[in-house]
Amino acid sequence: MSNYAKSIIAGDREHVLHPTTNLFEHRENGALVIERGQGIHVYDVQGKEYIEGMAGLWCTSFGFSESELVDAAVEQMRKLPFYHGFGNKAVVPTIELARRLKSMVPFEASKVFFTNSGSEANDTQLKMIWYYNNAVGRPEKKKIIARWGGYHGVTIATACLTGLPAFRGGFDQPLDNILHVSCPHYYRDAEEGESEEEYADRLAEELEQLILREDPDTIAAFIAEPVMAGGGVIPPPRTYFEKIQKILRQYDIITIADEVVCGFGRTGNMFGCETVGMQPDTMTVAKQLSSAYMPIAAVIIPEWMYEGLVEASADRGIFGHGITYGGHPVPAAVALRNLELFEERDMMSRIRDVSPHFQERLRAFADHPMVGNVRGVGLIGAVELVASKEKRLPFEASAGIGQFCDNRCIEHGLIHRFSGNAALFCPPLIITAEEIDEMFKRFGLALDETYKWAR
Ligand code: PLP
Repeated sequence: MSNYAKSIIAGDREHVLHPTTNLFEHRENGALVIERGQGIHVYDVQGKEYIEGMAGLWCTSFGFSESELVDAAVEQMRKLPFYHGFGNKAVVPTIELARRLKSMVPFEASKVFFTNSGSEANDTQLKMIWYYNNAVGRPEKKKIIARWGGYHGVTIATACLTGLPAFRGGFDQPLDNILHVSCPHYYRDAEEGESEEEYADRLAEELEQLILREDPDTIAAFIAEPVMAGGGVIPPPRTYFEKIQKILRQYDIITIADEVVCGFGRTGNMFGCETVGMQPDTMTVAKQLSSAYMPIAAVIIPEWMYEGLVEASADRGIFGHGITYGGHPVPAAVALRNLELFEERDMMSRIRDVSPHFQERLRAFADHPMVGNVRGVGLIGAVELVASKEKRLPFEASAGIGQFCDNRCIEHGLIHRFSGNAALFCPPLIITAEEIDEMFKRFGLALDETYKWAR
């Protein structure tokens, strides 16, 4: 290793506290330091090339070297590097971006509120719904239903929504008005002989029982990712959202679509809710909104909710919620250019052309002796490893299967990610068929080595 690489890695170890990382392992072994990117590839400080099989964190739709997005940032930086929306101010790119987003979403949207991250945006969803319900005279209607396995962020409120042990354990969960229903994982949880439709019936029944037990007048909203991402790439069973939403409507409960991962083409439609038959009242978007070149997220709300906020803010003197960098002109300009490029380059057709190949290559792993289930839609998928195929027996976390396989992937020049026993794939949307082949070839090598190691 060069002295340059050594000193960078040592510096990181000495000074940086890493997010969502095994801190002990970081202290012992240091980090993989990435220095530059080109297309779907990134390069570490030693110059080694990797395919980025997760588009970073499910986010760099245009890969790592889209100069149009860089130019949009530079141009906006030169014109107006910062201004804000507090106290009735506005900036031009934010207005244009809100207009464009409203025209894209599959529901009647009225207003867009900008934040820097998906966590802040989901946090904002809860605050807005609580503020709205106070405004319309139903202060008891405050509980939020999320799902085990769902990921919605890490702020205090969104960590309470997030239904993954790794993001809950060790931190307090102070909000007692957040409830959870089952993760809709057909492969893991369906009973013997149960069809997807019957499984969806059972989950809808569970939801209704929870609502009745808690009292429908106390339940404000239900939040869901159209396809669960961080929880293991779990598309819902057939008819799930149709059945779930019938119940939500019956009890006047708002549906929030968390499109932070699924939004902007990932599942083969512009929004994941279109792929899974979900009809949201409000929506959260982030990540691929700007191809992650700049931090930006948004909450998109309908007119009836906006009217409630307007009235309450008139009474209170202010809608007292906002973040210094929310609606920042530079990320907004980048996001706007990103959405323009998406259209100019007809990315939806491109995704629909290449995703059958991605899914076919993914599904080929189903024959591997260590693979229990393969699933996905569009350009997102998972390969779930099992200790026994017949018994669907998961590996114990202590077996270290994910860690071993991940390390082998790194060795072979592939960055991807494990959630539990599931190897996740979510490459940049610009990936070509040849690059998909190369990505899965590298994974296949790592998987075979993991199989040999585990036996
Ligand atoms: N919602 C979903 C579905 C996510 O996957 C994430 C992050 O991965 C978030 C919300 C939180 O976004 P952020 O990390 O930008 O706060």
